Amino acid sequence: MKIWKILSPKVLTSEERPDNLTSATQAKVKVTQLLLSGTELRAYCGISKPKYPIIPGRFAVGVVSEVGEGCVKVEKNTRVFIHDAIPCGACNACLNGNEEHCSNTKIAGLNSEGYMRDFVVTDESNLTPLPSSVSDTEALFAGIVAMGEMIISRLTLTKGSHVAVFGAGEVGNILSQLLIYHQAVPILIDSNEEKLKIATQCGIYYTIPLNEEMQSSVERITGGRLSCASVHCSYCDIDPSMPFYVTANGGNVVYTGFSFPEQIVQLKPALDKQLILSSVSNDYSYIESAINLILNKAITIAPFHLQPHAISETSELFRQAAEKAEKGVSVPVSILNMLS
Ligand SMILES: [Zn+2]
Repeated sequence: MKIWKILSPKVLTSEERPDNLTSATQAKVKVTQLLLSGTELRAYCGISKPKYPIIPGRFAVGVVSEVGEGCVKVEKNTRVFIHDAIPCGACNACLNGNEEHCSNTKIAGLNSEGYMRDFVVTDESNLTPLPSSVSDTEALFAGIVAMGEMIISRLTLTKGSHVAVFGAGEVGNILSQLLIYHQAVPILIDSNEEKLKIATQCGIYYTIPLNEEMQSSVERITGGRLSCASVHCSYCDIDPSMPFYVTANGGNVVYTGFSFPEQIVQLKPALDKQLILSSVSNDYSYIESAINLILNKAITIAPFHLQPHAISETSELFRQAAEKAEKGVSVPVSILNMLS
């Protein structure tokens, strides 16, 4: 198989490697599409301090091209979402069937090999078949939808509960759409107008710019009660203590993301209000329900206007994205077509 590898910051190369099945329950998947998001860009620029060399690519879909004789879940030509988070299977949590809290989860493109390659060989348990009415591009968002569902499962929401979401990138946007689907009321906050505009086009009603009026806007929308929970998305460039000011006493504050930067947070306001702080950083338990939600049109990704790029353009693509990011320009999420 051909793999793409980042050797050191801004050095991307490719190489050939053997790719044979080594167990009866493994399948070989031809990767068709890959999501290019901040995760890949941070690995390329060295911002997330990855352990090089690294094969980037967290979210991928493909078509099964070969199956071991023990496979029962997939067969040749099954379209699949390739799981991005794979529990270790050996730690205490895993051995007790609590994989969600695995202490050693392997995450594609982060602490284990990502999917920027032409083929992936993996156990069939790491593959979820896709219904024909879910497109490859929609399926690339299954991991983000799954993480959103995991966050929502943490919050005790009733119909009409207000939830403040900090960061209107793809995670905050999709989470907000899911909150609406679950009959809660998201209040999406960001300093980037373009992201808020896309959110509006996705049907998110309350989008608030991050400025000195933010707090009073939340008070007005919630009738002075403040939000019953807040979610802060990693790498959104918003002070992580902001949620403390808009969350009602005793409410939940969840930090979410597929990885987190080093941060220092002033805790006093959270302690004074007896807030419950937690984090959600994987999507392991909700992939199947995420695909069902996509099938049921619970979310739209059309307003993202996703740009498909050919794999042959990868080096140039990363170079341009890095240049933009260094100038402080936000780089929108895009798609890598692995077949062209
Ligand atoms: Zn484990």
